[in-house]
Amino acid sequence: MAVLPTPAETAKAMDAERLIGRRVGLVPTMGALHAGHISLIERAADECEAVLVSVFVNPLQFGAAEDFGGYPRDLARDIRLAAGAGTTHVFIPDVEAMYPDGFLSLVRVHELGDDWEGAARPGHFDGVTTVVTKLFSMAGRCRAYFGEKDFQQLQVVRRLANDLCLPAEVIGCPTVREPDGLALSSRNAYLTPAERAAAPKLYRALLAGVTAIEAGETAPARVAAVMAAEVGSEPIVRLSYAAAVDPVTLRPPARLEGGVRLLVAARLGRTRLIDNLGCAVPGGARARGQTAPGAPEAV
Ligand code: AMP
Repeated sequence: MAVLPTPAETAKAMDAERLIGRRVGLVPTMGALHAGHISLIERAADECEAVLVSVFVNPLQFGAAEDFGGYPRDLARDIRLAAGAGTTHVFIPDVEAMYPDGFLSLVRVHELGDDWEGAARPGHFDGVTTVVTKLFSMAGRCRAYFGEKDFQQLQVVRRLANDLCLPAEVIGCPTVREPDGLALSSRNAYLTPAERAAAPKLYRALLAGVTAIEAGETAPARVAAVMAAEVGSEPIVRLSYAAAVDPVTLRPPARLEGGVRLLVAARLGRTRLIDNLGCAVPGGARARGQTAPGAPEAV
């Protein structure tokens, strides 16, 4: 596995791969790799001969009061796990390599990034879209693998690639969970034992939302209230938001029909966790068929 420290070397290596007919798969990460990341890398390795994994804790997507400094970092372990999962190239830049002196550009996807995580973390998605634009530019023509775990991010990145004709085909991959339903996340490492025991409440809230929809509830606010009540039954889990949204616009529709995405975010002590789940309204048309031409695909 080649370890690449700069955008220029990475772009050159990916050009060389394509020149000999190898497909490029890109998996952007912030490191602290877990089984969720590994599932993305393995999917990329199944579908592409060259697999580029980036490991970069991107300061641009962290707010001033967030955990950039304390974000878990273990490069030696990441390199070992990435290699074991089929990575052929790992891109590990330092901040200076990504944002050299004089860097002045910012890429923004309007509207899709405004609510939910965007509202809770002002500037977060501008940081994500800026770094992803750089990664797509250096990877070149590729398939790019993102987790549904960060569903709003996935839809923002789909829109970005579509709107700017970036040379990446964005592929959403299912969320990997612990046996008790907790979605794997590098931030789970921050949880105290008591918080860890309570954390599956997010998943249970999503399941409660699905149950309400399957029982015929079509009012987004009432589904959100069911989810909020489930979270509220565990005092150490403090709800940030619960919502039932259209998977493409990420806004609650007047009435739920077709495909629905349930979103939840909550704080446990100093840790903020997010999760989501897709479901279909019984008897409704699939959202996929309702997607406007050129719009990001619903997953
Ligand atoms: P991160 O390192 O948190 O920026 O995540 C890198 C990529 O891994 C993103 O596309 C995430 O959506 C994805 N990811 C994170 N957690 C999971 C998970 N539990 N299951 C599947 N993908 C995940």
